[in-house]
Amino acid sequence: MKVPFFKLSCGDNEYAYVRDVLDSGWLTTAGKAQEFELRFAECVGAKYAVAVNSCTAALHLALDALDVKQGDRVFVPTMTFTATAEVVNYLGAHPVFLDCDYLTRNITPAILRDAITRCPDIKVLMLVHFGGHPAQLLDDENGDEGILAICKRHGIRIVHDAAHAFPAQIDGKSIGGFPDISCFSFYANKTITTGEGGMLATDDEAVYARAKLMRLHGIDRDVWDRFTSSKAGWEYDVVAPGYKYNMPDLAAAVGLAQLENASLFRAARQRCAEVYFARLGSIEAIDLPRSDVSHEDHAWHLFPITLNSSASIERDSLIQELTQAGIGTSVHYKPLHRMTYYRDRYQLRKEKFPSAERLWSGTLSLPLYPTMTNEQLQYVCDQLWRLAGSSCSSLKSAA
Ligand SMILES: *Cc1c(COP(=O)(O)O)cnc(C)c1O
Repeated sequence: MKVPFFKLSCGDNEYAYVRDVLDSGWLTTAGKAQEFELRFAECVGAKYAVAVNSCTAALHLALDALDVKQGDRVFVPTMTFTATAEVVNYLGAHPVFLDCDYLTRNITPAILRDAITRCPDIKVLMLVHFGGHPAQLLDDENGDEGILAICKRHGIRIVHDAAHAFPAQIDGKSIGGFPDISCFSFYANKTITTGEGGMLATDDEAVYARAKLMRLHGIDRDVWDRFTSSKAGWEYDVVAPGYKYNMPDLAAAVGLAQLENASLFRAARQRCAEVYFARLGSIEAIDLPRSDVSHEDHAWHLFPITLNSSASIERDSLIQELTQAGIGTSVHYKPLHRMTYYRDRYQLRKEKFPSAERLWSGTLSLPLYPTMTNEQLQYVCDQLWRLAGSSCSSLKSAA
C-alpha cells in the first residue's frame, strides 16, 4: 500500500474558477484576489485581509506595518520554519529564540513570562500555532494570564504565524480575529492552497493601509484601480520603497474554490487525527501530540509524534522503514537554534532549548490529509506498531 505524506484535495470549482480567469484575459491581481480577500476576512472574522504571494511575504509586511526597525528585538519560537525568523532579519531586527512546550510544541504563557523577564525590551512576538493547535491566548480558568494579556501588559504586539492554523479557533473565535495581525499560508501542502500564496488579516486600519501599500511597490493606487478608474492609468505616485508581493487572480481563483471546502477538509483531517489517537495511544515508545482545545477548534494541519527514551528504534531509522513500507513522513522541524545562520550569528546553545531538543531527536509527522482512507490510516498504525510497538522496557518486562 502507498500512503503519501500529503495529497491535494481539489474539486471542480478550482478548474472552473481558473478557467474564468484565463477566459477573462486578466491573470494578475484584480477582482478574484479582491473577492478572495473579502471571503477570507469574513471567514476568520477579521475586518481586513490582504492577499499576497506567500505567508513569508505576509509576515514581512506585518513586521513592517508594526514599524519593526534596525536593532529591534522580536520573540520567535525555535520550533518553526525559518520564514518566521528570517523576516525579522529582513528588517535589520533580531530574533530572540524561545523554547516550546514539549507536547503542544507551542509557546506557553509561562515560557513567555520567563522570556520577558530576561529580555524586557521586546517589540513583537511571532506566535506559531503549531500544527494547527491554537496557542493559549486567553486567560485560563484559574485566572492566570494568557498570551494576549501578558503581551498587552508589556506593550508587545503579536504577529500570529498562522501558516498551520486555518481554520483554527479559540472558543469559537478564529485565529485571524485576534490582535494584532495574523498571517496565513496557502503553500502547496498547507490546509488550503493556491500553489504559492498567503494572507494577512487584521482589524487595525493603519496596518491594513500600510500592508496594502507595501504589497505593491509602495504605489499609491493598485494596478486594478489604475486600469478601471476614470483617472489616467499611467498616473500614480510612489510613496515608499515597497515590495512585489501581490497575489495573482490565477492563484486567488484556486484559493476561492479551496476556501469553499475548508471546513469539510478540516473535519476530514480531524477524523484522521482521531484514528491516530485511538490506535497509537498505547504505544509506549511514542508520545502523541496533546490537544488542549476541543478537536473542532484545531486545524489539524500536522500530526507530529515523538519517539521517547523508551523507544528501541531511532527516528531516522523509523522514517526509513516507513518509507520502505510506502509511507511518506516529514519532520517539523529541525529547530532554528540548530541552523548554521542563527546558531552562529546569535551564539545559540542547545542547552537553552530542552523541549525543542527532545522533540528534534524523536519527532516525525504522519500523513494527514482529507482523502486518507480508513485502510491507509490502519496501515500506517499497523506499521508503527510493528516498528515501534515493542519498546526496550516492554521487552525487559517480558523477559
Ligand atoms: C509554510 C510555513 C511558512 C511559510 O509559508 P509560505 O507561504 O511558504 O511563505 C511560515 N511559517 C510556518 C510555520 C510554515 O509552516
